[in-house]
Amino acid sequence: MTVIDGKKISEEIQNEISAEVKKIRSSGGKIPHLAAVLVGNDGASETYVGGKVKACEKVGFKSTLVRLPGTVSENDLLKKIAELNCDNDIDGFIVQLPLPKHISDRKVIETIDPKKDVDGFHPVNVGRMALNLPSYLPATPYGILQLIERYKIETTGKNCVVIGRSHIVGSPMSILMARNAYPGNCTVTITHSKTKNLKEICLSADILIVALGKAEFLTADYVKQGTVVIDVGITRVKSDKTKSGWKLLGDVKYDEVAPKCSFITPVPGGVGPMTITALLMNTLKASKMEIYT
Ligand code: NAD
Repeated sequence: MTVIDGKKISEEIQNEISAEVKKIRSSGGKIPHLAAVLVGNDGASETYVGGKVKACEKVGFKSTLVRLPGTVSENDLLKKIAELNCDNDIDGFIVQLPLPKHISDRKVIETIDPKKDVDGFHPVNVGRMALNLPSYLPATPYGILQLIERYKIETTGKNCVVIGRSHIVGSPMSILMARNAYPGNCTVTITHSKTKNLKEICLSADILIVALGKAEFLTADYVKQGTVVIDVGITRVKSDKTKSGWKLLGDVKYDEVAPKCSFITPVPGGVGPMTITALLMNTLKASKMEIYT
């Protein structure tokens, strides 16, 4: 059994990006520039955006944090997005979700210029992904593809079962694993809260991607010997064994599932560190105009 080290791979990729930025700088090229829009002051969103800005600084990107009050009108937010769309110095930007209830996520996402949509949430990018055309891939699925690729995990002809059908993880993951590409070429089954016989379906999986958001849901009886298990879940639970008083749990009951796996991602330190790195990869692509030439 191999434990997939997302922290190590993430550092590896960030070092590669840093080296590329150094080259760009020394040749007088344009430094990649990511902007993040943060509406309101939700604690978790602050942490996520803070992590993204810090990662940009680490690899040598420029970053801009646009803070707007939680009371901002939908119209004013859409105007800000239109400004960012036209700002030639900004290569890509994200609007941190969730947004306050009076603002439509859909309208916001659809206002972002697909060429700058480094989160890969715009319908144009989702459509291009489904057609296997160059597109920005949503960060978490893109990060998972990187882990599969860098650990040289065979995917062609394998049965891949995805648990969860969210627009940010499960659904894009199922599209990507079925594409005629590597990683991909799997026979994919996507499952969700209404799926019957989940255990039976999971037992047919060679690759199991678990993204339902229920701590330690997947027990050993769902997994056949030799399966590749990718645990996307992150749930914060109280713990009297840690200094902070809490710990992170994945969707997989790691201790009992790991011995049956050929590869497994731990939580923390598996998929989590890859998400921000994938956003940096998309931003570099945006600055090089690799997707939309
Ligand atoms: P979500 O709540 O949007 O979607 C959950 C999905 O799971 C739904 O499609 C639902 O139908 C399905 N589901 C729920 N109960 C089920 C059951 N009993 N059987 C089968 N399917 C079931 O969640 P999400 O945004 O996709 O996130 C999933 C998990 O991944 C969360 O724990 C989240 O924190 C984590 N996450 C981690 C990262 C990362 O960077 N590692 C990124 C995004 C999400």
